[in-house]
Amino acid sequence: MDYKTILEDVYASVKPLSNVGRVADYIPELAKVNPDKFGICLNTIGNDVYSVGDAYERFSIQSISKVFALAMALSVKGESLWKRVGKEPSGTAFNSLVQLEVEHGIPRNPFINAGAMVVADILLTSFENPAEKYLEFVRTLCGSNDVDYNDQVARSERETAYLNAAIANLLKYHKNIECDVEEVLRLYFLTCSVELNCHELAKAFLAFANHAEPFSHAGIELTRSQIKRMNAIMQTCGFYDEAGEFSYLVGLPGKSGVGGGIAAICPMRYSVAVWSPRLNSKGNSVMGMKALEELTTVTNESIF
Ligand code: GLU
Repeated sequence: MDYKTILEDVYASVKPLSNVGRVADYIPELAKVNPDKFGICLNTIGNDVYSVGDAYERFSIQSISKVFALAMALSVKGESLWKRVGKEPSGTAFNSLVQLEVEHGIPRNPFINAGAMVVADILLTSFENPAEKYLEFVRTLCGSNDVDYNDQVARSERETAYLNAAIANLLKYHKNIECDVEEVLRLYFLTCSVELNCHELAKAFLAFANHAEPFSHAGIELTRSQIKRMNAIMQTCGFYDEAGEFSYLVGLPGKSGVGGGIAAICPMRYSVAVWSPRLNSKGNSVMGMKALEELTTVTNESIF
């Protein structure tokens, strides 16, 4: 498959959307990102890499971090993880409080904020230095030793985290957080603040695309079955309350973040990462989503 030409065609076809959508502006660090950036990188199972546009410029991965955190928690807790967090799509906003209250502090899935906070709590009780371990894991997955947190982004998030703090407190009230609420929020925001470029993000997701090999990176181990299950959760819960739309239009498991990034995988074929900061009303990258729709349409490669 001539992925290089395909990616160039994909880029050309999404360009008309370059003014559609709005950059996340709930913290100043995200608001000042150049909205006109666009990058895409595809990494095949055979490790051929193709990219177009700003694929080597780092951006804030935000909620894509929830995939890496879940992998760590699943490797430690196995199936018992699901006693504390569900695996059903939420159908509500990623930071909704209502559902959490009705369901007595058991978050719908690990990719909404409440679920990711329970996962952060698990990391805090499972690793001696969870923030360092998370960074080591992400660095190993993407093969870049200088990947880092953006502490300014993490601090800024905390300063404005009225809703996220409410979620963490509600979880604590329902005894689904063991650690100090402040510690959980700190780790959650740190993990969101990691910056990667499309090239690194595609490389990191390759491990989830390849079920043929056991997952073992920086001491985090998952069975083939666990990788498949992670992909199932990405498919059903990875795109805020637009997971159905993403499934319908793109047909790949993946995860998006409000930094404008999307990482997705075509099992046993490739991983792909795309970045364009302008978001639709659900929080997904407008050009990113369209680019992946084009990619799976032109190649006729999706999980369906
Ligand atoms: N740090 C963001 C928050 O919790 C993550 C947003 C996202 O990418 O969904 O509000």
